[in-house]
Amino acid sequence: MPDHNQTAPGELEVVRRFINSWSIPNDTREETDALPELARAPELWRKEFPQQSRSRTDTLGKLQRLRADLRSACQAEAAREQTLNEWFSSAALSLKTQRVGSATKLFIESSEASFVGYLVAVVANAIASGEWSRLKTCPDCQWAFYDHTRNGSKRWCGMTKGGPTGRACGTIAKVTAYRIREAMKPGIA
Ligand SMILES: [Zn+2]
Repeated sequence: MPDHNQTAPGELEVVRRFINSWSIPNDTREETDALPELARAPELWRKEFPQQSRSRTDTLGKLQRLRADLRSACQAEAAREQTLNEWFSSAALSLKTQRVGSATKLFIESSEASFVGYLVAVVANAIASGEWSRLKTCPDCQWAFYDHTRNGSKRWCGMTKGGPTGRACGTIAKVTAYRIREAMKPGIA
């Protein structure tokens, strides 16, 4: 698996793209929010998120709140469980069994036909499957990525500039750490 593959499996990729609708692009380094424009233009929305249309309850403010809470949850901040739980109860999640081949599988779904309900159900299913903990945000540029490493130890969005997004956050952090270590070394008398 190449190091710069950031794509999340299945529908979790929709959540990742949604979180990244707020970003700090590498070229401008300015916070950019694509949601207001997407929310204004239904055809743009359908192109970006064809899985689920917006309902009247999916206001821009609500979508931005959900995005901020999901981003915080990805950063594994303490006390974020309660925030997720609140979204789960507001989306009225319920369990449904479905036959997949010879096995009976359990799915979580929202009784709300809304984009928020859809996303929250995807997050709940990802927590149940263990995939959620691999959706992370870069401590430097804040970009959300899926950690494909075997031991789930990836911290930065990309370690090389060669990736499709051309970022080098991990490299920058490593160089900074190296310089700090070097600077702290006692001088030779
Ligand atoms: Zn980064």
